[in-house]
Amino acid sequence: MLKVIKFGGTSLASAQQFQKVAAIVRADKSRRYVVASAPGKRFSEDIKVTDLLLTCHRLAKEGENFDVPFNQIKARFEEIIADLGLSLSLEDEFTAFYRRIVKGASEAYIASRGEHFNARILAAYLDFPFIETAEGIIFDENGALLEEVTNEKLGALLKKNPRAVLPGFYGATEHGDIRIFSRGGSDITGSLAARAVKADLYENWTDVSGLLMADPRIVKNPRAIEFVTYRELRELSYMGASVLHEDAIFPVRREGIPINIRNTNAPEDAGTMIVEQAEKSAGIVTGIAGKKGFGAIYIEKGMMNSELGFGRRVLRVLEDRKISFEHLPSGIDTLTVVVERGALVGHENEIIHDLQKAVQADRIHLVEDLCLIAVVGRGMINSPGTAARLFGALAKEKINIRMIDQGSSELNIIVALEEKDYEKALQAIYNEFVPEA
Ligand code: ASP
Repeated sequence: MLKVIKFGGTSLASAQQFQKVAAIVRADKSRRYVVASAPGKRFSEDIKVTDLLLTCHRLAKEGENFDVPFNQIKARFEEIIADLGLSLSLEDEFTAFYRRIVKGASEAYIASRGEHFNARILAAYLDFPFIETAEGIIFDENGALLEEVTNEKLGALLKKNPRAVLPGFYGATEHGDIRIFSRGGSDITGSLAARAVKADLYENWTDVSGLLMADPRIVKNPRAIEFVTYRELRELSYMGASVLHEDAIFPVRREGIPINIRNTNAPEDAGTMIVEQAEKSAGIVTGIAGKKGFGAIYIEKGMMNSELGFGRRVLRVLEDRKISFEHLPSGIDTLTVVVERGALVGHENEIIHDLQKAVQADRIHLVEDLCLIAVVGRGMINSPGTAARLFGALAKEKINIRMIDQGSSELNIIVALEEKDYEKALQAIYNEFVPEA
């Protein structure tokens, strides 16, 4: 058994958290390659080291003094080192780092140092070798990851050591210039490492005990999801329920490596397993995700169904305006295009005008206050009556459904509602499908 294990920023935010991390790593001999994030928040008003680093870069670029954030960063690392009782000193490196910022180091280089220094400290604390990911994760000159080159190089680098700690979030071009992933990108590093060493499991340790069935800010004490398939996760994360960087899925998925989301602060919790195919059948519904901030364009025209190219002409207008659509439900003489509200606001008249010109509709009108709720579950395909239960739950609360869309995979049903009904609807759907504990 071989596991790659990644710890997020809150898991490595202080010496106390490092101690928990070390206990987790030592509890299982198969946890051999450890990916570290930069120190995150210790409390809600705290500032992530990555954000402080980005502030240093911005100030330096504007010719301003960046001593305040720089010293905060240095103090955070020094405190972790001192509280762990390590003999490691990063003094000289911080002096060199300061000079590099003054000389105009790139944003990516500066941002990457949070992970770099934190991984150095964790390696010293665990007494594992430190591996420089910049030598294994390779980007092209435009900042796009070279996945196959990376797979080979990172695999060769890691296999030299039976155990190692490596920094997340960054890599380098073949010329050695540091490049970073987008925010939260240490998840991707972990996934690439898991693929490169053909791990049996990728454990992603964070500060929640896995994915929850619904947003806990809206639904009271939602249950944790035990098993979710990659496809379900995609449907759920699309609506904003992600605890994992989206790009972290593909490298492990192609190798059939499951991901286990775990909680550093509650290591006894099993967390969520993300798998290609779930062995265990969950309830009908795996999760419920939703988002406000949508709008819709309703288009009506007699005999639309027999007018060749009608849909294409509508979508062409949107494409020309760089508007991408979320859903496209249609009736015999109607077509609705659901889009993000931001794409409509302020451009209503122009959009109607362009569409009218393109398709000579009988009626076009816009609605700008919709939310979408996706009810996702691999169990739905075999459960007749799921839609009836969903609509019944909403009807009981007198909530009006503005649009319905069932994905062709029968993995989800999406409803559009008025925004004002969002919270009530989410709770009603949850209560309908999740039996009380
Ligand atoms: N430290 C980086 C961030 O704050 C990357 C990560 O934590 O995954 O986004």
